[in-house]
Amino acid sequence: MTREMTVRQFIIAELEKGSMTARDLSKAIRIPEKEANAHMEHVAKSLHSPKRLIIEPPVCNKCGFIFSERRRFTSPSRCPRCRHEGIQPPAFRIDVR
Ligand SMILES: [Zn+2]
Repeated sequence: MTREMTVRQFIIAELEKGSMTARDLSKAIRIPEKEANAHMEHVAKSLHSPKRLIIEPPVCNKCGFIFSERRRFTSPSRCPRCRHEGIQPPAFRIDVR
């Protein structure tokens, strides 16, 4: 990350390259995951057409349940179908079209 870039500009640049989870971002920027999520919400609001944020939904590691209705940026704590707690967290990317 260069000094001239803000954290949000960095996040946008990374998500344009490919999808990342909040954990990936927190590692890349060296900030807590909670902060990465807070930045994500601002990034989502600040994007202008044709750029848009795509949220790849969380998936249960056990039964494959897809949390397709979920619009939040954080990972659910457990699967509503099988109660398993191993959930693949949501990933984010920016689509331009
Ligand atoms: Zn499940």
